[in-house]
Amino acid sequence: MDKPIIILKIGSSTLTAGTNIISRGKIEDIARQLVELRRDYRFIIVSSGAIATARQFVNANDWEEVVHFRQAMAAIGQPKLMQIYHEIFRDFDLPIAQCLLTYRDFEEGESRKNTFNTLRELLLHGFIPIVNENDTVAVEELIVGDNDKLSALVAVLIEAKMLVLASDIDGIYDKNPHLHPDATLIKEVRNIEEVTGFIEEKNDGLGTGGMTSKLVAAQICSDANIEMIIINGGKPHFLIDGLGGNIPHTRFLPEAKLDC
Ligand code: GLU
Repeated sequence: MDKPIIILKIGSSTLTAGTNIISRGKIEDIARQLVELRRDYRFIIVSSGAIATARQFVNANDWEEVVHFRQAMAAIGQPKLMQIYHEIFRDFDLPIAQCLLTYRDFEEGESRKNTFNTLRELLLHGFIPIVNENDTVAVEELIVGDNDKLSALVAVLIEAKMLVLASDIDGIYDKNPHLHPDATLIKEVRNIEEVTGFIEEKNDGLGTGGMTSKLVAAQICSDANIEMIIINGGKPHFLIDGLGGNIPHTRFLPEAKLDC
C-alpha cells in the first residue's frame, strides 16, 4: 500500500529562524527529519521564503515596497531558494522538484488534472515536490496567507493524510499570547467556529500568514476529512516531535473523525 502523504508548510519566518536571512540550519533540520520520516510517509513541502532569499542578494533600498516589488523579489529569490534546498537536501539523498502554483490551478479542469498528475508522478518516483505560489502571475498568498490556503488546496488535491503548518508559535491560544501572558494553548480543535473569536491578529505589517489564514486552511482540510496541525517550526526536530505528540501544538480534528 502507498505510504500516506503529509504536506509540510514552512513559512518565511520559520525558514529565516527569526533573522532576515534564510537559515541553512533550519533546512538541514528539516532534511534530517525527513530522512527518518520517509520510512512511513511521503512528503510534499509548501515553502515560502523566495522574497526573504532575494533580500540577501539584492540591495532593494530604493525600490518602492508595493506588490509588484514583492513579485519581482519572489522571481529573483525563488531559483536561489531552490538552489539552497537542492544543496542541502542532496547531502541527505533527498531528491526535490519545484512546483509553482496558484489557486486557479486547483479549479476543476485541465490545470487541476495536470497539477495532480505532476505531483503524483513526482511522489511515485520518490521526489519531494517543493511548492510555492507562482507570484509572477498571482498575488493572493503574497498579500495575505503566506501559502496557508495554498497548502490546504494541495492537501485536498492529493488526498493527504495530514497538513502540518509550521509556524513561529506553538499553535492557537485562547487570547493573543504576545499581549496576554496568561494565554492558554488550545491543544485540540473540534469546531473551528469556536476558536475564531480567539484570533487577534498582530498588525505589524511583517508576516502575511496570521492565524486567520490558518483557520481558512483548517476549514478546507476539515471539509475534506484531512487532519491539520499547527506547530512551532522554530523548535529543532519539530516535525518528528509534533507527529509523535511530544511538543505542544494545536490539532484540528476533521468533521468525520469526530463522529467516530
Ligand atoms: N511566496 C512568497 C515567498 O516565497 C510568500 C512570501 C510571504 O508571504 O512571506 O516569498
